[in-house]
Amino acid sequence: MQYNNGINMQYNNDINNVNTIINWIYSLDHEVCGFFDVNLNISNVYIGEKDEYGRNMCRRDGHQKLEFHTHPIDSKGYPSIEDIIQVINNKIISISFVFTKWGVWVLERSANTPLIKIKLENKSNDYEKINSYVTGELYSESNRGHDLPDYKHIKKFIEKAEKFFKIDIKFYLYEDYLEELEYLRNRY
Ligand SMILES: [Zn+2]
Repeated sequence: MQYNNGINMQYNNDINNVNTIINWIYSLDHEVCGFFDVNLNISNVYIGEKDEYGRNMCRRDGHQKLEFHTHPIDSKGYPSIEDIIQVINNKIISISFVFTKWGVWVLERSANTPLIKIKLENKSNDYEKINSYVTGELYSESNRGHDLPDYKHIKKFIEKAEKFFKIDIKFYLYEDYLEELEYLRNRY
């Protein structure tokens, strides 16, 4: 079985958590969300649903230090502004992993992350301005979030979002994430 980013099931043997999550991206049209334990193994899973506007929603029972969610195949390959703000607004969360068809995004609270909650109403003028500043280029350079763009656009998105929201963002292709996993497991 071959995925878009060249991931194939040969990774199956020792990292079944990651493959399980990748399978959800490709097989479910709902987001899946949940928590990781300190070894980055899945500890709780919730299946999301569509809200009244057809947007994907996935509600967890509370929050924990290490959270994850998926973006199904038909949604964007990068984190939403809401995904980023959630890390800032909830001090319990230290890292949020966003698994998409492009790879894994790691959104991490940093020493500079503001302690004040950001209030940003969805679809308000401020929201649209910030969204277009942070994600506009990535959106247009990736066929509206569908095709993995040139790395320079990913890099620019990360730089803008890190500067604007003062959190740390990393992006890994799945093959790189799997290589980093042992290091990441020992880190958190
Ligand atoms: Zn998301």
